[in-house]
Amino acid sequence: MSRLRLATAWLGGCSGCHMSFLDLGEQLIEISDAIELVYGPLVDAKEFPEGMDVTLIEGAVANFENLELLQQIRKRSKLLISFGDCAITGNVTSLRNFFSVDDLLTAVYHAGPGSAPRSDEADQVLPELLPRVLPLHQVVEVDAYIPGCPPDPERILAVLSSLLKGEAVTLSEVQRSFG
Ligand code: SF4
Repeated sequence: MSRLRLATAWLGGCSGCHMSFLDLGEQLIEISDAIELVYGPLVDAKEFPEGMDVTLIEGAVANFENLELLQQIRKRSKLLISFGDCAITGNVTSLRNFFSVDDLLTAVYHAGPGSAPRSDEADQVLPELLPRVLPLHQVVEVDAYIPGCPPDPERILAVLSSLLKGEAVTLSEVQRSFG
């Protein structure tokens, strides 16, 4: 039986969802025979690979790099799962939506102690921000959702176990069988 090709991706998030994934601990080892983790912050892979079975995506879409990667992931993944509340609603990452990008950059980098002079060159050090932070489903079709900030390890395991058994992801708002 072929292993489930799994990827994880980290967009605009704090990495807490990935930490929760790691909190699976020994249970991760138990399912490792059935899963091949081929891309993500826990793996040394530069390019998002073709032919993914499932991709868990942490974080909201905050900049143009996030947007490009998300669209590539959608094309290359059978199932795309919004992983955690930032991916699902924008959550903490979207708090900056109260400000314009210009006001935000000025407040964070160019005002107050330790500020740097504002310049086009300085602004280009960062990936270009989108005007607004977006949850994943506002950019691409999402197949399932794993809520939580971060999601409990038990909830992540329940989803992975369902997928490995070929069952629908019952925690999802949108259910689709893996096959
Ligand atoms: Fe961090 Fe919570 Fe967002 Fe996950 S959902 S990236 S834990 S803030």
